Amino acid sequence: MKQNSPSKVYLCWVIIVAFISQIIFRDSVQTQLILCLTNNAAGCILALYQLKKNTTALFYSLSSLTMNNAFWLSAMFLAIFVIAIGQLIAQESPKDAQKYARLRAQADKLAHKYIIVDGHVDLPYRLRVKNFKFVREFIGIPIETRDGDFDYVRAKRGGLTAPFMSIYTPSDYQKKGGAKQYADSVIDLVMGIPKAYPDKYALATSPAEIERNFKRGMISLPLGMENGAPIENDLHNVAYFHKRGVRYITLTHGTDNLICDSSYDTTQTWKGLSPFGAEVVREMNRVGIMVDVSHVSDSAFYQVLRVSKAPVIASHSSCRFFTPTFLRNMSDDMIKVLAKKGGVIHINFSTYFLDDAKRKAMEKSGEELNALLKSKGLKGQDSAAKPIIADFERAHPLLFSDVEEVANHIDHVVKLVGVDYVGFGSDFDGVGNSLPTGLKDVAQYPNLIYALLKRGYSEKDIAKICYQNTFRVWREVERVAKGK
Ligand SMILES: [Zn+2]
Repeated sequence: MKQNSPSKVYLCWVIIVAFISQIIFRDSVQTQLILCLTNNAAGCILALYQLKKNTTALFYSLSSLTMNNAFWLSAMFLAIFVIAIGQLIAQESPKDAQKYARLRAQADKLAHKYIIVDGHVDLPYRLRVKNFKFVREFIGIPIETRDGDFDYVRAKRGGLTAPFMSIYTPSDYQKKGGAKQYADSVIDLVMGIPKAYPDKYALATSPAEIERNFKRGMISLPLGMENGAPIENDLHNVAYFHKRGVRYITLTHGTDNLICDSSYDTTQTWKGLSPFGAEVVREMNRVGIMVDVSHVSDSAFYQVLRVSKAPVIASHSSCRFFTPTFLRNMSDDMIKVLAKKGGVIHINFSTYFLDDAKRKAMEKSGEELNALLKSKGLKGQDSAAKPIIADFERAHPLLFSDVEEVANHIDHVVKLVGVDYVGFGSDFDGVGNSLPTGLKDVAQYPNLIYALLKRGYSEKDIAKICYQNTFRVWREVERVAKGK
């Protein structure tokens, strides 16, 4: 019987090994390595035919076709080895996967272990403007809804326990009057929530009350007033709103008011803080209301920091470092001055606040949509506008920031001044369709905590960011008010 030549046996052997390895490892790095290590044209053809035509196989085929020489053979093996190692490193090892799964579980646990304060949630605005007509009509919305960013079910899932309810007064009340009355009606509306759901929600006017509510499994609803316009021109109204439960006041909003200039306005009415505004800040110190510098102009910010005896907060601002043209965010110098006084910046989650290029694209897209609706005689809230908006959004998909970018802003503050001066200030229910991927609603705080854990933040750091930093400022404001 004629014996098979060694080369034929070898070829058969290679094909068998290649097939077996293909079955066992499927399209993996190991398959490619085994195929290449056989150093055979058949193996190479098989590799090209059966596997994806990737770099390793292609390199092997080119080399094996042309070489019979030890130098090129060694060079080829070396190259294959380097590529294979690179691919192995690029792949998540089982150890990494275990680590990330552990951090993921830890993030979920920490979100529920600690209080989460959010410096700014616009639920009252959503209730009032979009859904609120009669008192009974809001029933249901604070518990579980398909629209909006906040409700009880999702807050529980995300671990949110102390969202500052924004008592927002639009700037036009500064001209037409009635700001105080309007703010009172929004406070009444928020107070109706714990009345309607006493087993789920409770009002809170101090860190101690939030801690008590937290232990009982309740969500606290502290009040923050956005825009100082409801103080009108009467200093007594500061104490009045403190009595009503307001614990911070954002001095202004979209335009200059009687208190100070706005970052969105260019008028510079007061070149910062007005004389009345300085009185308001002192009165807030006296009664125990936190001063909120979000929305104020740079000059107003520096003047407020000089006047205030207590540390101040930015309830929903991000870092201007990432958005140089967006003056609504805080510059590095402002963050340093804020921290030096012991204050806290609560990072706004909106893409508008996180990334200049994406904000500009969103603004452009928004303008185009408005022009389209206007040409059809429609407004955004009209029901006939809904399909048009949906079509437009499909044709012009927006580019959103993601949860990692929010973590970048937190990181930036931490690198600048330390972990004691930063918190969350989502602006949920106040920034429309601009929330980042992975942080679309109040159920998703664990995603942000996870991002921070992956970056090496400790449990202690997370607790500070979630609530302890804010509580430190709040307690200091209480201490200053008591004159201790
Ligand atoms: Zn705002």
